[in-house]
Amino acid sequence: MHKTVTELADGRELIYYDEEPVHREAPDRRPLEPAASVSEVRVDPFTGDAVTVAAHRQARTYHPPADECPLCPSREGRLSEIPAADYQVAVFENRFPSLADSSAAHVAPWSDGPYALTPGTGRCEVVCFTSDHRASFADLSEQRARLVLDAWTDRTAELYARPGVRQVYCFENRGAEIGVTLGHPHGQIYAFPFTTPRTSLALDRAAAHLAATGRNLYDDVLAAERATAGKPDSRVVLAGEHWTAFVPFAARWPYEVHLYPNRRVADLTALDADARAEFPRIYLDLLRRFDRLFPAPAPYIAAWHQAPRPAATELALHLELFTLRRTADKLKYLAGTESGMGAFMNDVRPETAARTLREL
Ligand SMILES: [Zn+2]
Repeated sequence: MHKTVTELADGRELIYYDEEPVHREAPDRRPLEPAASVSEVRVDPFTGDAVTVAAHRQARTYHPPADECPLCPSREGRLSEIPAADYQVAVFENRFPSLADSSAAHVAPWSDGPYALTPGTGRCEVVCFTSDHRASFADLSEQRARLVLDAWTDRTAELYARPGVRQVYCFENRGAEIGVTLGHPHGQIYAFPFTTPRTSLALDRAAAHLAATGRNLYDDVLAAERATAGKPDSRVVLAGEHWTAFVPFAARWPYEVHLYPNRRVADLTALDADARAEFPRIYLDLLRRFDRLFPAPAPYIAAWHQAPRPAATELALHLELFTLRRTADKLKYLAGTESGMGAFMNDVRPETAARTLREL
């Protein structure tokens, strides 16, 4: 992996990742003013959950036509976020970030009675998986998927080294149905100044399991799933030498798969060479199964769960992949029980979903 760090016209970082050394020097010729960020992180007094309020984001680019895509390479007369005429994988700071260190200059920490607020520091990055506007992640070659893994890993290491970053979250939203505003294949990385609500809950559960059994919760779950591989009611979808993909016991979504390295690590930076080498094949296989689930490729969310820092060694790196579609023409909406109470109702038995995905 070869990395070239450059700067956009307004001072944001743009990093090219290439499979082989490439000379990258195209300058950003757009007239751009640095954007100010005024994000706040407010704590819900009832749940302790952090909620980010980023009122400056309302003006962001929304569904531009394909010939104005800001993630396509630049060409004469049409300058995008990526000045190069072509690229392999490119990562840049979001122009309209929900979290940015510049918030600290505009928002002061504050508390009063049950309420507390801190500036929404951190960083939001965009990861372009390919310069091909019409492709999707599932179309990438294994080498290109490996380059994306290397870029995620490099970003994770760099962002965790920044002061104030508690949790680095790499994810992809795919499909207009789930509010993706740009059709170009891309993902995002958030560097949060707090531990996310779902991770906080998971860490509490892992600590309770450790106290009760002396064992790691993630190790026990992965061992339980792997023990059923090959049996008719198994939830395992793919069992590789270094990775296991399974539908979780209490899946919240009709089609939901969790992908774990067989050797537990805290985050992407700790994956060993064997796991890194096998990842592209396993992940592309999973995504292509999701694409075959329905006549049209399914919208999905792919979410990397990484242990926050400092400490939190109990959490295991894994990826959670799920689609919001439950049949060819029906989306699962988060309605009264899910949105109102956080209580999910799933119409598909996880064991059935696993068999469907295995047989695709
Ligand atoms: Zn594009």
